[in-house]
Amino acid sequence: MILDDVRIVLVNTSHSGNIGSAARAMKTMGLSKLYLVDPACEVDGHASALAAGATDVLGNAVIVDTVADAVAGCALTIGTSARSRTLSWPMVEPRECGEKLINEAQAGPVALVFGRENSGLTNEELQQCNYHVCIPANPEYSSLNLAMAVQTLCYETRMAFLNHQKNEHPQVSEQDDTVYPKAKQTELFYDHLEQTLTDTGFIIKQHPGLVMTKLRRMFNRARPEEAELNILRGILTSINKSTK
Ligand code: SAH
Repeated sequence: MILDDVRIVLVNTSHSGNIGSAARAMKTMGLSKLYLVDPACEVDGHASALAAGATDVLGNAVIVDTVADAVAGCALTIGTSARSRTLSWPMVEPRECGEKLINEAQAGPVALVFGRENSGLTNEELQQCNYHVCIPANPEYSSLNLAMAVQTLCYETRMAFLNHQKNEHPQVSEQDDTVYPKAKQTELFYDHLEQTLTDTGFIIKQHPGLVMTKLRRMFNRARPEEAELNILRGILTSINKSTK
């Protein structure tokens, strides 16, 4: 079931009511995989009360320490943001966000990541995402309540899912069998790249600057397939051998 492969990730949530309301929002749209990254509150009675008939989603929530842990097995990660950030990243509209999630969930897990009530996602967390999505709300007051943002984007995901069901049995030639690396593999590649560039002296440890962020953005834009990422890893290994 495609919707079972769409993870909703809530980062550092401080109000348990929001976790419960998010669980309810998910279940009404047919989603069930909730990940809580280092929650700043207990998943308590208040959460269950607001989850109403979705206490199963709440009870099955997976608690992890970091965003990287929550999305490790995902080939597509979309981060949410109520405002644009200094370093621009590829953006998708909510509708396209739903379509991308449904398209790629057919091949395996994908994730939609939501931030803290008071401060959203950090730049470091946003840079682990392939795309950012912003609900084009009132520019003078664009920050939705966390669970309402979850509801809105889960609705778009459901619409894309219903559309997909209607158009099932596509021509074989239309099927996209591209295999993208999982987030964990991509992060290992960035670690390897950073280490190699540090070894060659290109990155100076005391003054790393924005090099890695800009390289991340570039590779993210190119979106290497799994096989291409393996070639890049091989290139790094050959550099490591020749500079030893
Ligand atoms: N003050 C924070 C807003 C946090 S709102 C900030 O400036 O980033 C809490 C979370 O709800 C956000 O991290 C995001 O996940 C979601 N959210 C709220 N409004 C949104 C919007 N317009 N588009 C996308 N996500 C939104």
